[in-house]
Amino acid sequence: MATSHTATSARPAIRLWRRLTLWVVGLAIALAIAGLAGRWAHESAIDKLRVQGAQRLDGYAVSLENLLSKYDFLPGTLELNKDVIALLQRPGDEALRGEVNAYLEQLNRRSGSTTIYIVNLKGVTQAASNWRSRQSFVGDHVAFRPYVRDALRGVPGGFYGVGTTSGEPGYFFAHGIYYQGRMLGVATVKVNIERLEQGWEQGADKVLLADARGVVFLSSVPEWKYRTLKPLTPAAMREMEESRQYFSHALTPLGQRESRQLGGGAALVTLPESGRTPLLSQTRSLAPRQWRFVYLSDLGSARASARNVFLFALLVQALLLMLVLYARQRQQTRDHLEVLVVERTASLQEMTRNLSEENSVRRAAEEKLRRAQSELVQAGKMAVLGQMAAGMTHELNQPLTALRTMSDNAQVLIERGRLDDAKNNLSTISQLVARMGALTGQLRQFARKSDASLAAVPVTAAITAALFLVERRVEQERVNFRMQVRDQQVHALCDSNRLEQVLVNLFNNALDAMADCDNRQLTVNVERVHGRARIVVTDSGPGIPEEIRSHLFEPFFTTKPQGKGLGLGLAISEQIVREFGGELRAEAVEAVASGGARFVIDLPLAEQETA
Ligand code: ADP
Repeated sequence: MATSHTATSARPAIRLWRRLTLWVVGLAIALAIAGLAGRWAHESAIDKLRVQGAQRLDGYAVSLENLLSKYDFLPGTLELNKDVIALLQRPGDEALRGEVNAYLEQLNRRSGSTTIYIVNLKGVTQAASNWRSRQSFVGDHVAFRPYVRDALRGVPGGFYGVGTTSGEPGYFFAHGIYYQGRMLGVATVKVNIERLEQGWEQGADKVLLADARGVVFLSSVPEWKYRTLKPLTPAAMREMEESRQYFSHALTPLGQRESRQLGGGAALVTLPESGRTPLLSQTRSLAPRQWRFVYLSDLGSARASARNVFLFALLVQALLLMLVLYARQRQQTRDHLEVLVVERTASLQEMTRNLSEENSVRRAAEEKLRRAQSELVQAGKMAVLGQMAAGMTHELNQPLTALRTMSDNAQVLIERGRLDDAKNNLSTISQLVARMGALTGQLRQFARKSDASLAAVPVTAAITAALFLVERRVEQERVNFRMQVRDQQVHALCDSNRLEQVLVNLFNNALDAMADCDNRQLTVNVERVHGRARIVVTDSGPGIPEEIRSHLFEPFFTTKPQGKGLGLGLAISEQIVREFGGELRAEAVEAVASGGARFVIDLPLAEQETA
């Protein structure tokens, strides 16, 4: 018992679990799909950024090359100036130095370089374009500078560094000065390339230029300048200190970390100052100088597009899910409705069948009831006849005796030749026979089973016919019968036979009630009231007490001794009148002046009557 209970209660729980798992798995798949879509969007956004970044880098590289190549030739041209050669040959000639200084100053101004100076073979500056300034290079020892050293060794040098005198950074071009195949000194041109930075776009994207060792010397972010892409080796550090390439700058590492290598010089990196948000880093090497351009793109747009695509994919899936659910719901509703329609149709058919069965049963019952009522009416009629039988026999016996006597007399009279008297006798006999015929005819008429068909019945004729049946009693019991008719032509829509039955009942009741009275008055009034035919039967009997009046029309209610009354007369009469669409009632005692009983029959007027 207990196990079966847990089994049944566990089933919905299992269903719930299954459903929950389904939803969780569905959600996971949806998230995975959205995630893939987001990732794809992220990757394609990065690809786009890479293309843009590569274009930028190309642009920067070209402008740098353009700038540098412009000055590449300049140091070499200085050996074409004979004053320069002469000064290197005669370093003590101050006048000549003045000439060369002026020349260099002018050349520097024209070419847009920062400084131009001449160094002798010992590495001492002989003349310089900035000879007028306090930071004049003239007389400076610059042999330690790598580019000077290289040039003195016969290798044209190029070098980026921060000036030891001026503290200003610049690119140094150095070239040996030859005269008749012999090196006399070195010509150096310093060019400011920092102005390139100004052309670099300011904004979310960052660009920097680093030398072969990874020292950043140009950057769109000022704080990154003179920092390193990776920590310097002690040897490199020492070498740079010796050459004083970056003068007194600390050269601390930027500390960028590579989170993902993308290939083709691209990677996702993070920088301490930009937090954990990665940047797209693209590098382009500038071959001859072993410099590196690094372009850093902000990945905000890529992340935003990834997020948007992710959300969009989720939305699309949610919409699809809703569509599917909606379709399923509709299908279920349709199925449910179809089932419902089928069920309803079946139950309707069932109901119709039941109804028609009930209907036929009801009709049969009604038919049975109608027949029973009809039988009851007939029974009532027979009961009245039974009660009247004694009177009837008497009424028929008397004329029969009279008939025998008179016919015997007639015979004698004829024999004696008294033909006139015999004639009189025969005519009386004829009258008696006619009366007996009328009585039996009336009885037969009364006793016949009527089918209660409605017709226009002259009310007074019905009263006369009913009276005929009780006439003998009326005479014997010396009852004063009066019929007061206001309108002889009153026709009621009813069945004459049944109306007679009702009237005979009322008359007999009245006669019964007046049996012990001295004054016996039976009055029938006929009139037309409120468009109805009204028959009022009043007697001078003891009347009907109120407690009896409320039970009058109940079947089997009687106050008469056993064998005398059945208690059906009024019940049947009331029913007959009701079937005619009329009403039968007993008036309250106080309403009757004579103190007796009064019964009122209201009947619908016949058509011809109302017309
Ligand atoms: P029954 O005549 O067989 O008793 P009815 O239904 O005809 O049955 O009458 C029922 C009762 O109504 C009678 O027993 C009698 O008490 C009362 N009743 C009917 N008519 C009169 C009347 N005219 N006066 C006094 N009482 C009456």
